[in-house]
Amino acid sequence: MKDMRYCLEKMEAAGRLARVKTRVDAVHELSGLSAKLEGGRALLFEKVKGYDYPLTTGWWWNRDNVAAIFDRPAADIPWLFADAVDSLRSAPIAPIVVDDAPCREVCFPEPDLTRIPVPTHALLDGGPYFSNCVIIAKDPDTGVRNTSVHRLMVTGRDRLGLLMDAGRHLRDYYERAEARGEALEITINNGVHPAYFVAATTPSSAAPIDVDELAVASYLLGEPVRLCPGVTVGVEAVADAELVMEAEILPRVREPEGPFGEVSGYYATRADRWVVRIKHMSMRRDPIISTLHPGKEVWNGQGLGIEANLFRTISRQVKGLKNVYMTHGGSHYHVVLQMDPPANGMAKNAIMAAFAAFSDLQMVTVVNSDVNIFDAEDVERALCTRCDPAKDIVIIPGAFGHELNPVVRGNIAAKMGFDCTYPVPKPPEYTRVSFMDVDPGKYDIR
Ligand code: MN
Repeated sequence: MKDMRYCLEKMEAAGRLARVKTRVDAVHELSGLSAKLEGGRALLFEKVKGYDYPLTTGWWWNRDNVAAIFDRPAADIPWLFADAVDSLRSAPIAPIVVDDAPCREVCFPEPDLTRIPVPTHALLDGGPYFSNCVIIAKDPDTGVRNTSVHRLMVTGRDRLGLLMDAGRHLRDYYERAEARGEALEITINNGVHPAYFVAATTPSSAAPIDVDELAVASYLLGEPVRLCPGVTVGVEAVADAELVMEAEILPRVREPEGPFGEVSGYYATRADRWVVRIKHMSMRRDPIISTLHPGKEVWNGQGLGIEANLFRTISRQVKGLKNVYMTHGGSHYHVVLQMDPPANGMAKNAIMAAFAAFSDLQMVTVVNSDVNIFDAEDVERALCTRCDPAKDIVIIPGAFGHELNPVVRGNIAAKMGFDCTYPVPKPPEYTRVSFMDVDPGKYDIR
């Protein structure tokens, strides 16, 4: 069964999991240690002060952790994810609904979040946050399922604050329910295979509002995802989840939520936001709670899914694209495109195609195939020597962007593209210096 425990076993067998044996505090200490170990092996905190259940994080810190779970070379992962997204159009696999779900092994008599180790991550965070829950909802008009990831702040035994970013399908569902004075029912699923996370973060350009993106997860699992019926809501839960909360997003209720240290590297401010009331809670026996450490993990989790999708979407518009890379410093706001444009001007078309394909992007840099897009110094060299600012910088004022980026105000900011490609045909002065390829090991050097 491809559940979270299967993934932990796969990572441990590949040497990609470390067990933290020391008891840690869920308030600041757990995330403090995660910050020091960020980028390495995934972590399993076996003991959390005051709680009965362990907690895991860091699955997306690097591509090797993820590759161990999916049994593929790390370089193949973006393409595997892109194939999964393509299956939405070519051959979507429908979920199956089971009655004997592991997530129902233990049902709480009433919801009680004080039993669950939910970390308070960054020093100025407003409270404990679930950062890795997959939320499932149904379109109030069509019944189409939606799967997405949102931050959730614990504000009571059965109460959570929620952020629904503008443009997300969950918010669209909620606004239509709220207009009728109705709550939107959801299931909140914690501790699932990362296939569900990939499905949940599929951009809406690839999975429009009339498409159930859970088929992405089925493709990655190699079998239909297993759902189970809601006990108190008309929405299914992930059958193999470690913890399931059935809930409703209350109509016309807003309560303070935040601050929260976000993927952007900045704190999201405290403001009145949406409120979730939990109606039912169930879990597996001895559940393992899962959290995302805000930072590299979120960037990788998103970037891996986005890169190959961008490659395919842009390639349908312009020829000559070789590779794409979501840079780390750009935090999923900057993509570098590697392409040899077939004609002058085509690099700028690629910039426009990238912005159209993924609205969170703030910045696109285009370089030729003789530039290593994974090396920031090499990209910088192209920027300084191949981009004439008088004609090679594209600025699109007042475009829709990602609200968690502080430069984006009310979802609006300018976007910028840098055409760092040389002219077509290639002028001789753009020939890069090269040397004979020799093996230093064959020389007597002291
Ligand atoms: Mn959707």
